[in-house]
Amino acid sequence: MTAVATLGSHCALQVLKGAKDEGLKTILVCEKKRERLYKRFDFIDELIPVDSFLEVLDSKCTKILEKNNAVLIPHGTLIAQMSTEQIESIKIPVFGNKWILRWESDRNLKEKLMLEANLAVPKSVKTPKQIRRLTIAKRHGAAGGKGYFLTSSEKDYIKKRNQLIKSGLIKGDKDLYLQEYVMGVLAYLQFFYSPLDDNLEFFGVDKRHESDIEGLARIPSQQQLGMDYISSFNVIGNSPMVLRESLLDDVYQMGERFVEAAKRLVKPGMNGPFCIEGVYDQDAKFWTFEFSARIVAGTNIYMDGSPYSTLLYDVPMSMGRRIAREIKAATRQKKLDKITT
Ligand code: AMP
Repeated sequence: MTAVATLGSHCALQVLKGAKDEGLKTILVCEKKRERLYKRFDFIDELIPVDSFLEVLDSKCTKILEKNNAVLIPHGTLIAQMSTEQIESIKIPVFGNKWILRWESDRNLKEKLMLEANLAVPKSVKTPKQIRRLTIAKRHGAAGGKGYFLTSSEKDYIKKRNQLIKSGLIKGDKDLYLQEYVMGVLAYLQFFYSPLDDNLEFFGVDKRHESDIEGLARIPSQQQLGMDYISSFNVIGNSPMVLRESLLDDVYQMGERFVEAAKRLVKPGMNGPFCIEGVYDQDAKFWTFEFSARIVAGTNIYMDGSPYSTLLYDVPMSMGRRIAREIKAATRQKKLDKITT
């Protein structure tokens, strides 16, 4: 029997509840300070207490997971707390494609994959000198939007960059990636691709609530003008969204192009859950500024299924449960190596 394991954070509850619903053993690698929280949930069969998530690389933890034939489900916390090299060195099977996580963390590789998928990507601005219009400065890696800022001139950029250096969030220009800002409705498109039956499922779409940029819209412009401070795009939570039905065909096509591009550039491709993140402009054209090559926390809204998973499944299907189904199907077909790396 295969077990499902994950780190205690991000979407661990959804993932393990989904695995239990599918009858699989569930294991949580849990920081000792969070044991109290996770012990509340009966669907977690085993806790491996650790002082730091990095212990998942140690032989002690590896042995327990190996003994249970565990598949590790990667999520945002794994990406945020481990280097690419550390992730790639994990010995137990990782669900999906651990090699593509490097492409998620590196802005240049990320852009390359999005362009290969023929997605419309907002133009990157190579140097602060080239800032001509509204531009967003973003930190590399999984910074969660903290320390991002908007700017429209080199002079303003330098002022804000210096403030961020002072606050210790960045060291210099190297830590920032500049991209033209696209105005519109933000949407985070959640997919699942199964290499077992070569099928893409659109699972749901969510909105992110980011602080404190959202708060700015509540303040009259007279007050905004006098403010001398940098707003941020720190993700606080997510809420559900549905799209105009006429947009769905395009959504599927974007997902399919992404899957095909990943097959070409990062073998074995984009297997399992992923998310294409961007903005619908005034012509309903979607501009992709980001992707996540693993389950996103926005799927937590749909623990009981989403409006779109309801169209595909007759039981409440969370992304966590969908992952567990894939593991079960692959185990049955003796193809676990096709869905893990
Ligand atoms: P990211 O780290 O790329 O996911 O960006 C974090 C947040 O910054 C997003 O959720 C958006 O609110 C915002 N953002 C990033 N890039 C753009 C862009 N090119 N145009 C508009 N908003 C953006």
